Amino acid sequence: MIAPFTPKLVYFEPEALNYPLGQTLKNKFEAMGLEIRYTTSHNQVRNLPGDTDLQKYRTAKSTLVVGIRKTLKFDTSKPSAEYAIPLATGCMGHCHYCYLQTTMGSKPYIRTYVNVEEIWAAADQYIAERAPEPTRFEASCTSDIVGIDHLTHTLKRTIEHFGRSRLGRLRFVTKFHHVDHLLDAAHNGNTRFRFSVNADFVIRHFEPGTSPLAQRIEAAGKVARAGYPLGFIVAPVYWHEGWQEGYARMFEQLHDTLPPEAMDNLTFELIQHRFTRPAKQVIARNYPMTRLELDEAKRRYKWGRYGIGKYIYPLETEAELRDHLYREIGKWFPRAKIEYFT
Ligand code: SF4
Repeated sequence: MIAPFTPKLVYFEPEALNYPLGQTLKNKFEAMGLEIRYTTSHNQVRNLPGDTDLQKYRTAKSTLVVGIRKTLKFDTSKPSAEYAIPLATGCMGHCHYCYLQTTMGSKPYIRTYVNVEEIWAAADQYIAERAPEPTRFEASCTSDIVGIDHLTHTLKRTIEHFGRSRLGRLRFVTKFHHVDHLLDAAHNGNTRFRFSVNADFVIRHFEPGTSPLAQRIEAAGKVARAGYPLGFIVAPVYWHEGWQEGYARMFEQLHDTLPPEAMDNLTFELIQHRFTRPAKQVIARNYPMTRLELDEAKRRYKWGRYGIGKYIYPLETEAELRDHLYREIGKWFPRAKIEYFT
C-alpha cells in the first residue's frame, strides 16, 4: 500500500500568499509540522539536502514549491487534447522512463500553482476561440496531478469548473489510487478520468513510488461508479519476457474488477516504449541500476521535432505488440474505443 504523498520540504514564493489557496496551504502545512522555507522564486530553490546529485534529485522529488503560474499561454497537447492546462509540474513518482526527467532537467521538484482562477480564465478564453467546437484540456502533461491533489484540491475544483462549462472538456491520467476526494466532484460528465496501467512486471520493475496495478484498477472501479467517463492509457507498451501473458492478465483483471457502468464509455490509448539519446543519459544518471532495455541497435529510429529523434520498436515488433493489445481489448471490452496506438 503506497501512502498519499507528504512533502518533506515546502517552499513558498511570497506572491503565493496573496491568494486564498496560498494561505490555506501555508496553514495546512504548518499544522502538519512540515519544514517550510520561503524563496523569491522557484528558480532560487537551491541547496537542497543531499551530498550527491542523485541524493539531491531524490530530495527534489519530495519537495513542493507553492507558487503562481505566470505564463498563461498553454502548450498544445496532441493527440489526446487541444491544450495542456498547467495546474502543477513535477511528480513524486520514480518511473524510470518518465519523460519529466528530460523536460524538467535540473528542476525536478514539484510545483503547485495557487492562481487557479487565472488559469481557468485563460482556459475559458481558449474555449471561446474554438466555439462551437468543444475544446479538450489535458491536465497531466507536466505532472501526475492526482498524486498531489489530496493536498491542494486544485484538480477537484478544476473538474467542477469544467463541470459548469458547455464546451470545455478536461482529461488527465494517473498512476496513483488516491482518488476518494474526487468521487463527489460535480464533473457533469465533462472530465475523462484515465489510469495509466501496465503489465504487472513492468510496474514492479520500472515504476517505484507509484500505486500497484491492483490498487489502480480498484480506484478505476470507484471512478466509474462515480459516473466519470473512464479511460486507460497503456504506456509504455514494453516488450519483456512473458509480455503476452502479462498484458492478457492485465486486461482480464480490468474486466473482472470494473463495474458494468464502466463498459459503455471506455477508451484506451496505447503508447509503445520509446527513448531519445538525451533521455537515455538522464535515465542512466537518475536510475543507474535500471534494467530498462535502451539498446539503440534493437530499435527503429524515428525522426522527431527539434532534430531529436526517438528509438521505437522495429516494425515487426510494433505490429506484434499492437495486434496483441487490440485483440485483448476486443475480447474483454468489445464496446470500448481505442483512440490511438503510437
Ligand atoms: S507517475 Fe507519471 S509523472 Fe510521475 S514519475 Fe511516473 S511517469 Fe513520471
